[in-house]
Amino acid sequence: MNRLFAEQPVTIFEHVSGLARAHGAVNLGQGFPDFGWPEDVIARAADALISASNQYPSMRGLPELREAVCDHYRAHQGLEVDVDQVTVTSGGTEALTAAIIGLIESGDEVLLFEPLYDSYLPIVRQCGGVPRLARLEPPGWRVTQELLDASFSERTKLVIFNNPHNPTGRHFDQAELGLLAAACVRHDTIALVDEVWEHLLFDGRRHRPLASLPGMAERTVKVGSAGKIFSVTGWKVGWMVAPEPLSAAIARAHQFITFTTPPNLQTGVAYGLGKDQAFFDDMRTQFAAARERLAAGLNEAGFVTLPSEATYFLCVDLAASGIAADDLDFCERAVREAGVAAIPLSAFYDREPVRHIIRLCFAKREETLAAGIERLRAARQLFAP
Ligand code: PMP
Repeated sequence: MNRLFAEQPVTIFEHVSGLARAHGAVNLGQGFPDFGWPEDVIARAADALISASNQYPSMRGLPELREAVCDHYRAHQGLEVDVDQVTVTSGGTEALTAAIIGLIESGDEVLLFEPLYDSYLPIVRQCGGVPRLARLEPPGWRVTQELLDASFSERTKLVIFNNPHNPTGRHFDQAELGLLAAACVRHDTIALVDEVWEHLLFDGRRHRPLASLPGMAERTVKVGSAGKIFSVTGWKVGWMVAPEPLSAAIARAHQFITFTTPPNLQTGVAYGLGKDQAFFDDMRTQFAAARERLAAGLNEAGFVTLPSEATYFLCVDLAASGIAADDLDFCERAVREAGVAAIPLSAFYDREPVRHIIRLCFAKREETLAAGIERLRAARQLFAP
């Protein structure tokens, strides 16, 4: 067996969701919504399942979806990309995996930022990449010049950057993106940018793709996911947008991973990406209201929350909330003894994790959040001094 994978534990999301099912817990752990998906997008996919082809679509995706991705980014982010630059994948995860496999060779240095989404590191390591980990520090989680100076080197072939950021809920600002872009240009580094949360922004924020910064169009692979945009996380339809020759190299890897993605789902997503601005605004308004509901309920119950600018996630600082427990211990007891699931932030670190913060998903109906808050209040009592 390959020891890298044989020794990997199951992901924290699978572990916590399994415990949540076993204990009948309210699941505020794994990032999936229990409301908010557009019925017309689902109906369009259902219709395509019956009335359109169910055979292999083209390896790089249905032309209608590839065009819809281009039109969508032009309309929403002012990004000019050509259809030839788009490859449809089976979720953002597959796009990330194909990109890492397609871009790096054994010994190449890859820069990543902790806390980090869990799919990146094992694939970098499997490809023989040499990871360098830069740490974003709570509570601000900012990208600084000092951090970049200490992290980039002449050997940095690839940087993997996630914006908006899971698990912290940060939406990195223009100044931070400017610093990162300048470092990439200076070190001739390719940027693999995981922007799957690009539409889940609050408080009037607008997403600026890293690819739009000076010098970045020719060195950026942008990853997106319909699962997040349309609250259909089980669909696993994603895409990557990259210039040649990066795009072709990654597509070569993609053709041996999944080769293609169910055509009916691609049709539904192509339709959905063309929805008007009001749809996206309304989605944000609903999720922002859910964020406020969870934050207010938790604050009232004595928890200290960190700011959430984007994504489905709100973090709680256990130490600042007067809870002396380690994050994993808190989450294990909360799900087993108080019936509420949360994700420990330490799961997003390779080593020396931050151990006093947990991540909660607020993309839930009012009653789910209310039940979650009450159970977290009870979980807090388990750790009363
Ligand atoms: N990247 C990040 C940062 C994510 O949070 C997620 C999903 N939680 C993904 C990638 C995976 O997206 P998909 O479900 O489309 O594979």
